[in-house]
Order: sequence, then structure tokens, then C-alpha cells
Amino acid sequence: MAKRDYYEVLGVSKTATADELKKAYRKLALKYHPDRNKGNAEAEEKFKEVNEAYSVLSDETKRSQYDQLGPDAFEQAQQGGGPGGNPFGGGFGGFSGSGMEDIFDMFFGGQGGRSGRASNAGPQRGADLRFDLEITFEEAAFGIEKEINLYRDEACDHCHGTGAEPGSKVETCPECHGSGYVRFTQNTMFGQMVNERPCSKCHGEGKIVSEPCKECRGKGTVKKNKHLKVKIPAGVDNGSRLRVAGEGEAGAKGGPSGDLYVYLYVKPHKFFERDGTTVLCEVPINIVQATLGAEIKVPTLDGQVTMKVPEGTQPGKVLRLKGKGIPSLRGGLRGDQLVRIKVVVPTKLSDKQKDALRAFETISKDNINPEEKSFLNKIKNLFK
Ligand SMILES: [Zn+2]
Ligand SMILES: [Zn+2]
Repeated sequence: MAKRDYYEVLGVSKTATADELKKAYRKLALKYHPDRNKGNAEAEEKFKEVNEAYSVLSDETKRSQYDQLGPDAFEQAQQGGGPGGNPFGGGFGGFSGSGMEDIFDMFFGGQGGRSGRASNAGPQRGADLRFDLEITFEEAAFGIEKEINLYRDEACDHCHGTGAEPGSKVETCPECHGSGYVRFTQNTMFGQMVNERPCSKCHGEGKIVSEPCKECRGKGTVKKNKHLKVKIPAGVDNGSRLRVAGEGEAGAKGGPSGDLYVYLYVKPHKFFERDGTTVLCEVPINIVQATLGAEIKVPTLDGQVTMKVPEGTQPGKVLRLKGKGIPSLRGGLRGDQLVRIKVVVPTKLSDKQKDALRAFETISKDNINPEEKSFLNKIKNLFK
């Protein structure tokens, strides 16, 4: 059967622009869409024809090839795998042109409009991978490069991912003539129905490899251990997710690789806690230090620093160390460290210490602090 000219199918001129093509295609695709033409075999045929025409003409490379070769020679080149071309590339039976799905999603609310066809034919994108990685508090703060070990699908070295034994022949499937689908007639109580199913001879691929690759048994991928260096940026937090593009499973039959997602878990720190870019910690001091003021040593992510505790510091007082926090993921500016002062009341005092405190109390009778004085006044009024 002679092939109809694709331009004719879409009803456009040979000089049609991409926009004109798209418009013509949408109009016809809507008109012949199976959802609107249930059981109409002619419309179904037209729908396929329109899709096939558009998948070729909307692709610049394929369109210029088509213009040069003409309908018949182009068809042969596609099915036989033209000289120099990847025999697995293209893989179209009118149903795998990229870009088509987007248009259908727009029109038919994501149903795809393809009745789930042909998803198993041709190159397929590899699956995404997840890797859970535990890092320390400091590593999250300042970033680090980690080597991780993945067990994943990689392109088969032997067949370079094609699935065909080197030197073997790739032929158009004689059963389905390259479409990947065979039609069959069913007698039902409503009469004869024409249906399609994936071709069992070629498993829906439309092509038959005379000798599948011995290493990967025709899959195009093999499971391998892979060491991968992952750069973790400064400022990540517990639960952060890093996407490493193209480091997921290899695609089948030359399809693109999936992505790798690294989920980060930050181990709790002995001394520090964290709130965004702020580092939190608690430091104990004694009552003398709190009362008279002191210089104390405080650990930070950059090592120990000396911090001044002012005279008369109350328990729970929060002091700030500027710029000692965690770098922001965007921009790298560091947050602060907040130091909460814990005043420890002494226990197990010696008699000498107790005497000293009693002596302190005695000489303090005329010098109680204002807060205590106002409290005493309040309760005096209360019990009058
Ligand atoms: Zn192989
Ligand atoms: Zn077949």
C-alpha cells in the first residue's frame, strides 16, 4: 500500500511553519480522537495516520529527512534503520514521537489519548534512585564530598546499551510489520469488535534482534556496583534532599538515565542543636560567676571561644555569638550561636563554704535587691 504524503494527511503545504503544523494537527487529532469516535475503525485509522504524520513533521531532523527521501524511502529508512543511524533510535510506529504526550495532556486532562499504547516499545528512561545518607552535624554545616556505593542498572558495555549482540541483524517484526501491535477481531454480544494487543513476537518493540546481547540478554543494561562522589553543599539540614541528575538507573535500549536522589540524615550532636542557620547550646556556670560576671570558654563549630558573662546574669539568659552559626544554603552567610546560661546552685557544700554564705547573708540584710524587696512588700500587704 502506497504511503500517503504526511503533508497531505495534515492538510498543510510543504512550507508549513511549526505553528501551522501544530494547529492542523490539534484540529485533526481532536476530530479523530478515539474518545470521540468509539468503535469507529476508520476514525481510528485516521487518528493514527495524523499522529504519525505529526510525529515526523514536528521533528526538525525527521522532517528534513522526509523531505529529502520522500514518503516511501523514508518509511524504509525508518524501519530498516538507515545507514549510520541507530537502529533502535526513532522507534516510531506513529506513537512514540516526543512532544505528542504534552499536547494530549493539554487536551484530554492527562489521559494520554493513546489508550496506553506502545509504552514498552523503544528507548525508555531509567528509573530514579533513592540513597539515604547519614552525615555529622559538622558535615551538614560546612559541606563535604562523600563517596557512596550504588548497585544500579548501567548501560551494557558489550552491546553499548542497544541489547543486540554486536554484528547481529535487526529486522522489522514480520508479525506486526514494525508497529509493535497486532489487531484482532472479537465477536461479542454487540457484534464484531476490532481490538489491538502488543505483538507477542517482538514484545511490542516492532523490531526483532537476530541475536540478543549475550551479556545483558537483550535488555541493554546490567546491574553493577558504582562508586559515586556526591558533593554535599554547606548548610544542608536533616531531611534535605539532593538531586543528582542522570545518576539513576540507566535507560533501556539507549534511553536516558534516571536521576539519583540523596536523602540526608544529620546525626544528633553531643553539645549543639540547630534551628535553621542558628546553633543552640547550653552552658552551666556557678552562682559566683553569675553574680560577679566571668569570662567562660564556649565550644563553637570553629573551636573554643572566650565569652564574657556580665555581672548579675540570671538563669536562662541567652547570649549571642555572632557569625558562629551555620552557613545559609543560599548565599553562605552564617547564622549566630545562641548560648543559654544555666546557673547551677551548689550542693554538698562544706561547713566552711556554708559559713561563708551565712556571713554573706548577714552582711546583705541592708542590701537586698529591688526585686526581692518589692516581693516582700507585696506579701506584707496580702496578710494584713
Ligand atoms: Zn548487552
Ligand atoms: Zn511484532
